Amino acid sequence: MPPLQPSKIVCVGRNYAAHARELGNDVPSEPLIFLKPPSSLIRTGESIRLPTVSKQVEYEGEIGVVIGSRLRRAGLAEARSAIAGIVAANDVTARDLQKSDSQWTRAKGFDTFCAVGEMAAAPADLASLVVRTRVNGKVRQEGRYTKLVFDIPAVLVYISAVMTLEAGDLVLTGTPEGVGTLHPGDVVEVEIDGLSRVSNPVISDS
Ligand code: MG
Repeated sequence: MPPLQPSKIVCVGRNYAAHARELGNDVPSEPLIFLKPPSSLIRTGESIRLPTVSKQVEYEGEIGVVIGSRLRRAGLAEARSAIAGIVAANDVTARDLQKSDSQWTRAKGFDTFCAVGEMAAAPADLASLVVRTRVNGKVRQEGRYTKLVFDIPAVLVYISAVMTLEAGDLVLTGTPEGVGTLHPGDVVEVEIDGLSRVSNPVISDS
């Protein structure tokens, strides 16, 4: 697998209406962005470690985007052409800490909290993308690109108006409804149909 060494991982929150609702939130009027540290990255087969300070670590299966060329204050066409590829991604989240902290750095930032699969070329029609999450083989989430509140080019335009996106940076586009808690012994898998897959065992970090 080629190295994935993003200078930053930029994520979008509440980008599927049904997921925003399941956690009691409104759909934001513009993309809600946050960062995960590159130190949270793991690849397929590596363990997700549940930190002892959290009692509610959850999976979030997402469509991930790898940036192919620098984007700064990009327009939609430039943003679309800067997509190097698509990866299956798991934005692992300590939900209890996300609720208790006033910002999300801790809840989203533990080591092993960003699992990413192999990169595949983006399909000509992004609308064909489907992301599925399975826990112990059972489907828990199914998200269609067409259900994104803000699609990938729109998200890249928005982020690049704030911070320069560099080649190799990773953007996670938000999770659909169906999030749930992970337990030691689980195996969680996120798959972008036909393109990319990441599977990780879950262990307690003790
Ligand atoms: Mg997420």
